[in-house]
Amino acid sequence: MTGKHGKEGGMSRRLIVGNWKMNGSLAANDALVRDLLAGIGQPACDVAVCPPNIYLAQMSGLLAGSPVELGVQNVSMHESGAYTGDVSADMLKDYGVRYAIVGHSERRQYQAESDVHVAIKAKRALAAGITPIVCVGETLREREAGMTEFIVKRQLSAVIHLNGHCISEIVVAYEPVWAIGTGQTATPEQAQSVHAVLRSQIKAATEHADRVRILYGGSMNAANAAELLAQPDIDGGLIGGAALKAADFLKIIGAANASA
Ligand code: PEP
Repeated sequence: MTGKHGKEGGMSRRLIVGNWKMNGSLAANDALVRDLLAGIGQPACDVAVCPPNIYLAQMSGLLAGSPVELGVQNVSMHESGAYTGDVSADMLKDYGVRYAIVGHSERRQYQAESDVHVAIKAKRALAAGITPIVCVGETLREREAGMTEFIVKRQLSAVIHLNGHCISEIVVAYEPVWAIGTGQTATPEQAQSVHAVLRSQIKAATEHADRVRILYGGSMNAANAAELLAQPDIDGGLIGGAALKAADFLKIIGAANASA
């Protein structure tokens, strides 16, 4: 069978990830996960949700035995020790965490995370057996200045540089900053053209580039998911707002199933 990227058997399953950000409560998580599991069946794509860390114990219980895997929104760049407030990759692994978002634009912006910090975090996650979801994306000002390609390549190249031969184990998420939480989604053509740039950058680093999943994130929702996921280099989605409503998240999973 020819894979999505035109290579024999090269394509991985689609991946749909919910980033809950700083939302939720014990009661709300319980209700959301129950509704999600009631409607998910056996998906043809991989699915994960990333709650705030404080809920990891609750969530690993709720998701046990289900097709939905557990992710987190951040990981410490340190292994252990005097780093007040940090949570290490090994600690996350104790709770069955499978994916860690690193370099989300909100952390780059509010926590001053640099490309190098993000690359180290990806390395820590990989060393613990957690798949990093490396976020890259340009601001509106950068897009308008014609710098989109330069910015996303710079952000990804730091991760490639530090993680060398492990690079085929990562997931990349293209998240234009101007599209996050704004309702202003990138058009499928805008997203595809950046995904193609990222794909060729990964191809230059590994012969296994076709198995690296490149997700789109930025106001993806039940109405626009199918069109975005139909693009040749869009392998899934990183979903914020729409992941907080089970019905909407299930529709996005349904679109990924249909395009598998
Ligand atoms: C995100 O925060 O990763 C995101 C894509 O958010 P939203 O879907 O709400 O734009």
